[in-house]
Amino acid sequence: MSTVEQQLDDLKAEITSELPSDISVSSVKYEGPELVVYTHDPKKFAQEGDLVRKLASKLRKRITVRPDPSVLSRPEEAREQIMDVIPDDAGVEDLDFHADTGEVVIEAAKPGMVIGRHGSTLREITKTVGWTPEVVRTPPIESSTVSNVRNFLKHERDERRDVLERVGRQIHREEMSDDEYVRITTLGCSREVGRAAFILSTPETRILIDCGDKPGAEGEVPYLHAPEALGAGPQTIDAVVLTHAHLDHSALIPLLFKYGYDGPIYCTEPTRDLMGLLTLDYLDVAAKEGRTPPYESEQVREAIKHCIPLEYGDVTDIAPDVKLTFHNAGHILGSAVSHFHIGDGLYNVAFSGDIHYEDTRLFNGAVNDFPRVETLVLESTYGGRNDYQTDQADSERNLTEVINETYERDGKVVIPAFAVGRSQEIMLVLEEAMREGDIPTMPVHLDGMIWEATAIHTTYPEYLRDDLRDRIFHDDENPFLAEQFNHIDGGEEERQDVVDGEPCIILSTSGMVTGGPIMSWLSHIGPDPDSTLTFVGYQAQGTLGRRIQNGWDEIPVSDIGRHDNSGGGRGTLSLNMNVETVDGFSGHADRAGLENFVKTMNPRPEKVLCVHGDERSVQDLSSALYHDYNMRTFAPKNLETFRFL
Ligand SMILES: [Zn+2]
Repeated sequence: MSTVEQQLDDLKAEITSELPSDISVSSVKYEGPELVVYTHDPKKFAQEGDLVRKLASKLRKRITVRPDPSVLSRPEEAREQIMDVIPDDAGVEDLDFHADTGEVVIEAAKPGMVIGRHGSTLREITKTVGWTPEVVRTPPIESSTVSNVRNFLKHERDERRDVLERVGRQIHREEMSDDEYVRITTLGCSREVGRAAFILSTPETRILIDCGDKPGAEGEVPYLHAPEALGAGPQTIDAVVLTHAHLDHSALIPLLFKYGYDGPIYCTEPTRDLMGLLTLDYLDVAAKEGRTPPYESEQVREAIKHCIPLEYGDVTDIAPDVKLTFHNAGHILGSAVSHFHIGDGLYNVAFSGDIHYEDTRLFNGAVNDFPRVETLVLESTYGGRNDYQTDQADSERNLTEVINETYERDGKVVIPAFAVGRSQEIMLVLEEAMREGDIPTMPVHLDGMIWEATAIHTTYPEYLRDDLRDRIFHDDENPFLAEQFNHIDGGEEERQDVVDGEPCIILSTSGMVTGGPIMSWLSHIGPDPDSTLTFVGYQAQGTLGRRIQNGWDEIPVSDIGRHDNSGGGRGTLSLNMNVETVDGFSGHADRAGLENFVKTMNPRPEKVLCVHGDERSVQDLSSALYHDYNMRTFAPKNLETFRFL
């Protein structure tokens, strides 16, 4: 008998002995990091309110209880009884019964009402029908991404369970090594921004953290073939951990499956959905620009199938000697500071991913409160000595000024913005400014993927800032549903109507004017001296956005045509519109934020690796942290390995 089988047998015996004698256990199984306990007596189990929690803390495992399929009531019968238990206001849309696992997935507009106080309604459901309920939210704004992902996972349910069972056995395998060390290898994003990828290794385990591309340098991918990484074969990687969905962290995750990786990806649920949206778009853009994409949509689906979503604060076994906990990073929806606890109290490493330390309109500030962290791997995007950002309130005032001036001229404000994060932040600023009368109420047109990304935000309000979350829970206060927001979904014709119409605000991708519908808006509105092109985000070297910022006002039409796929033409487009830059709307901590993140950690880490910043930024931040807080700091290059123990 294999050791995992033995372990499960022992667990079954131990659980049986802990339970009251009238509750029987039919089997126990690992599914990914969870221990699933099947019982003949699900109703009695649910009656003992605290039982699962007690078992979980006793066994130090995440535990799910499910009914043995032999004791299930018929779905038609259960459906009625469940609907009787759930309050009508919950807005139940769908009940989906899975007899093989005894689970019923309940989709509702107000999941909180299905869950009840401390899960009381969920327990009531099991007490009544025996099925194990699982709740998902109906997005307040319809999202094709969310429904595609859900339908796909439903369709792949059996195969996904096979994956989870295999991963579960991997996680709970017997440790083979007596040796002790912890190492980190940088595979990318060291002394550069982009292609984030690291290997965290112990004698037992190897974990890949992030796997991104480098924007504007398509050929430069992480050093995945290094012997530390996939060089020894894709199966030598135990797990992939994804901090957030931005392409410079996620773009090449699907590529791993083309290389033969078959293991889990740990991320939050919104990160999974956003990764699906952004990587599919990444393939689309590559095709439009005539590049051969490194993988196909089939691999994106594989990646989604292998995602194991975790919530902030869940302590999760991901290998025999590694526990992972995600914490809010304040950067984009679902972004996570990833904390690794290695061995039994042996060592702790935190990867910041990208962070924003202060609260923003969208998110609470990044969490930096851990029981222990010996080594911190810290992003340094704005780590340079002069990288201080404008105060949020000042930025917002600057933006409303630009809008008011343009409105008085009867012009239109065009804002290039990233679909994920910055757009929603600006939407919130505009909604409030209009509500409070700081700017006139006028239409705000959203073009490109912005609407879809917004819909995903409203699907996961738990991941948003407290007060914003509360407003979304009340439909009539959901700021994203304000009626001035208009989704451009009619293409060129609708754009022409907007161009011919009244003063308005247009938010459009891409954020750095490197393609997408913004090109079309420029060709329409660019010649109008009364309108204003307003940059609210970082414009990278080499992008059209940066060139316009630097004063370019004659744009080759071929440049625009190439990007909007109309083939382009001859001549130049005279950019007569005003060009303004409003700083301060960043998803990244500035220099002060990065220092504060480290300074207020308690206890502070012994070592800090400054990564994800250009040469100057990582050097500046590294030496400042060394001088100010007397810690050992490093500004590694790519392909360096550090041994910490
Ligand atoms: Zn990011």
